[in-house]
Amino acid sequence: MPPGLYRRFQRTRCRDILILPSPAHPSQAVDRDADRHRVMGATVRQPSRKEFSVGPFHQHYAVVVRLKVNFGGFVPISTVDWRGRAVCTVFLRGCPARCYYCQNPTIRDGEDLRDEDEIMAMIGSSRRLVSGVVFSGGEPTLQKEALLSLAAASRRIDLRVGLHTNGIFPETLQALMERGLVDRIALDVKTRWDRYDDLLGVPAVEQVRRSLALCSQAYAEGVLTEFEVVVTLFRGHEDDVPSIAREAAGVDLVLQQGILDTIPPFTRTELEDLAAPLSRPVRIRTREDGEFVYPPPSE
Ligand code: SF4
Repeated sequence: MPPGLYRRFQRTRCRDILILPSPAHPSQAVDRDADRHRVMGATVRQPSRKEFSVGPFHQHYAVVVRLKVNFGGFVPISTVDWRGRAVCTVFLRGCPARCYYCQNPTIRDGEDLRDEDEIMAMIGSSRRLVSGVVFSGGEPTLQKEALLSLAAASRRIDLRVGLHTNGIFPETLQALMERGLVDRIALDVKTRWDRYDDLLGVPAVEQVRRSLALCSQAYAEGVLTEFEVVVTLFRGHEDDVPSIAREAAGVDLVLQQGILDTIPPFTRTELEDLAAPLSRPVRIRTREDGEFVYPPPSE
């Protein structure tokens, strides 16, 4: 449908609500355009009386809710964001936390609002090469409505959906899992609970605990196919490890080498020494050696 035929009902910072009118050829054109918008990630529904009233034709109109996404970046193909799977990665801008070691500070703040269609076009452009999409950030769960909609649209083009999250918005995680819109979650658990709010610079500990509980339960029940707790570890925080490992019982645990200019990173051997007393398999990630399981499966 030519853009001029849309009637804009409402435009806000986060969404456009458009009316699809088709008085000349009512139902066919509306159905076709509604389907096209659905595939592109928009929500399509019947108009309410308040939104629209056009006499005999009103039943042939549809409301398209086109969300805006605060966009941070796009990687068309990645083999590191989801172990064993080629994916594309969408970075959503914005994060309320202030971790001193943040690797993506340029997308913690600011605004780059894009139509959801544009993001889905990026994802669609990778579709031939990938089997999944990972949403990362910033903090993707901050944009609940946009994330739910993008995940649903990704499902419709037959992609698996993964998420990297700091766990500050458990209600977004719950909604994603309840609707069956996520296959894999990597949850950052950044330190012991008693140090949490100081490290993040915002009150977050109760929300992250809730996220860990929700994801652990969903994983145990098979609702979530893959779930891992990721600890980015810096020198001086060695005693975080046993505490987080206890909280993450029964799920995959990743010890990731933290890199900062001001502190020498842990070596592979040092991380193995921290993992050894846990008496459980731990995935260790270092810049030098990539990811490996400790102890090795054959031992
Ligand atoms: S939660 Fe992640 S994106 Fe947010 S400040 Fe911390 S490291 Fe950066």
